[in-house]
Order: sequence, then structure tokens, then C-alpha cells
Amino acid sequence: MRKRLEDKWNAEVFQNYGMVELGNSIAGECKEKNGLHVSQLDFFIELIDPETGRNIKPGEKGEIVVTTLSRTGMPLIRYRTKDEGYIMKEKCICGLPFQRIKILGRLDDTIIIGSGDKLHPSIIENNLFSIPYINDFRMKIDKKNNKDRFNIIVETTNNDKINHEEILKHIIEIPEIYNGIYSSKTISMPSVEFVKPNSLKKYGNKIGNRIIDNRKT
Ligand SMILES: [Zn+2]
Repeated sequence: MRKRLEDKWNAEVFQNYGMVELGNSIAGECKEKNGLHVSQLDFFIELIDPETGRNIKPGEKGEIVVTTLSRTGMPLIRYRTKDEGYIMKEKCICGLPFQRIKILGRLDDTIIIGSGDKLHPSIIENNLFSIPYINDFRMKIDKKNNKDRFNIIVETTNNDKINHEEILKHIIEIPEIYNGIYSSKTISMPSVEFVKPNSLKKYGNKIGNRIIDNRKT
């Protein structure tokens, strides 16, 4: 997404993290674009295990919990964001002293695949949208012979450049999917099909809507 925006606008794109309830951006990228520096003068960030509510160590994945430090009208104390991420342990080479976080995605969007691996739809989106000719996609999941079966429906900008193997490779290299296919053998080899431009609009284009999970009864 960043590369597409930068190419289109001929401008550098920086990622920011925030939410309406907190009224502000909580963290943002520096020129290194490797994690987001937390605005620690205004926010205190903790990472917790979403199941137990206990704090977890820097470097481990957990739910991001935010406390506002400078708001007087409506302070929020230990506000649970339902976003998953981790605090980066190393100092940033840019020299800023503020801690850095990486955001992985929404906890409630997570899908369970194969032998119980958790997968964020945003990882699939990042991998597939890194292929320049992919305009949009949907991934349908169902179950056959006790295995998860993925069917990736791809809408491309230019039919001449389609490379079936390349698309498959971008899906298989996701560790959770790779493990399911080759180690636990709980996922069958994904299939890829192509559709005409604009045929995927009907599904909506919000993050999460691109994964159509038909395994649920
Ligand atoms: Zn930095």
C-alpha cells in the first residue's frame, strides 16, 4: 500500500497509529520506517495477554493497552484497543529516545487456520498487494477431508502479466500457511483463480472482508 501511494503521489508516506477514542495519533514512524515511535509524553502503552490480562515482556506479542497522560476532559485508563502488536526492544538508529511499537492487526479479525495457528488477514493483504498487477483479491476458506482449503480469487489490472506461480508463492511463504501445508498437513495446496476487473466490488473492501471463511457453521 505504501509503495503504491508513494509511486502514485511521488511523495514519501509515513505510517501513523491512533484511534478516535484516544483523540490523537499515539505513535508514528520516523525516517527509518521501522516501527512506530510512541508519543510517550502523552500516552503510556502496555502490552497484555488478551486472555489473562497480565502484562507481557517487551518483544512478545500482545494486546495494546493505552493510558492517556495529558488529557483532562476525558482521560482513558488502561484502555484496551483490541489491536495486536509488540514493543521493539532495540533502540532506533534515528536517535529518538521514544519506544517503538509494531502493529500486527486487529485481534478480532484473526482467523485460526490449520492446526490452530492464528493469522491476521493484513499479512495476506500485505503479501498479495506487493504484487503490482493485483488490483484486489478475496480468499475463500472451506474445509474438505479435514483440511483447510484456500481458494484465492484474484482481480488483476493487466491480464498479460498474470503469474499463477508467483501468486501461490506469496501465499505459501506465510509461515502459518507453510506449516499447515508441509508440517501439520492440515491445509491443502491453495488454488488460485482469476476474475475480470471490478468483479470483486460486491464483497466490500474493508480489511477482513477479503477473507471469506465458510468453515463456520
Ligand atoms: Zn526512529
